[in-house]
Amino acid sequence: MANKISLSQFITEQQRQSGHSSGDLTGLLSDIVTACKQISHLVNQGDLIGTWGSADSENVQGEVQKKLDIISNDYMVDALKWTGHLAGMASEEEDDPIAIPDEYPRGKYLALFDPLDGSSNIDVNLTVGTIFSILHCDQGINPTLEDFLQPGTEQACAGFVLYGPSTMLILTTGHGVDGFTLDQEIGEFYLTHPGMTIPQDTQEFAINMSNQRFWEPPMQQYIAECMQGKDGIRGKDFNMRWIASLVAEVYRVLTRGGIFMYPYDYKDPSKEGRLRLMYEANPIGFIVEQAGGRCSTGRKRIMKLNPKEIHQRVPVILGAKNEVDRLISYHQEYDTCK
Ligand code: MN
Ligand code: MN
Repeated sequence: MANKISLSQFITEQQRQSGHSSGDLTGLLSDIVTACKQISHLVNQGDLIGTWGSADSENVQGEVQKKLDIISNDYMVDALKWTGHLAGMASEEEDDPIAIPDEYPRGKYLALFDPLDGSSNIDVNLTVGTIFSILHCDQGINPTLEDFLQPGTEQACAGFVLYGPSTMLILTTGHGVDGFTLDQEIGEFYLTHPGMTIPQDTQEFAINMSNQRFWEPPMQQYIAECMQGKDGIRGKDFNMRWIASLVAEVYRVLTRGGIFMYPYDYKDPSKEGRLRLMYEANPIGFIVEQAGGRCSTGRKRIMKLNPKEIHQRVPVILGAKNEVDRLISYHQEYDTCK
């Protein structure tokens, strides 16, 4: 590739154009990328270094932690705690927000992350990733839990790194979505997918069909119509995909379109949803919206939700604008007739 644009050059120029030239966000992204390159290497080494399998612990969500979940979390914290760009951080893998150690300066951002998304897929060698969300914070303070509980619309930046056949970074700072591929030899991310967009229509849906009997009526209706294909009211055949790795699903939607659903269901009525608002739904929602798609609970725009707790879970329906809008309208009809 001639005239390759590196991630650092891209971010620096984008920040200059938008009048933010302090370099802070550029610096913070470079810290995150450092950790992600380490995680990429770790994931790629696989069982050569004995890191597959479970650790003997559960995280705050009561999920069995994989060894790689814990090591990836350590890499993120270690790469971010000392650089002076952050006032604090929060991780899917830790009960409480992580304070910056006293000896280091505090910056003006908060980082929230899912260090290794899709980690239940690690032992079967499928694509996993790291998701991150960057929020603003008053400079120099020691943030409280409330400082983290900002709606997704307040994000300064969001992204995810995919550890697949290629290692890729997908990023938005609110000016569209761009994709970068890691050159493993040089250790730099280069712009390979500028201006990613999600087509408004699709014939491909992704949902865990094994939960079908627990879905609400609007979801039953939507999927039933998709399944009827050409013979039904949709008048076209649909394809189905399910990888059970959010980053991989979203990357597919960003590259060739589609709709991805992890809806509310009655399986465990005490759970509002499955995906985490702060570490997954908000950053992914920011990216999807910036790519021209929609991200909703089925009833509310994800990015407008007021977070109640740091590990909050929400239903997520995302992707092709016209399909998500259709599902939202099915929920509206159902709620008004109920
Ligand atoms: Mn995850
Ligand atoms: Mn995870």
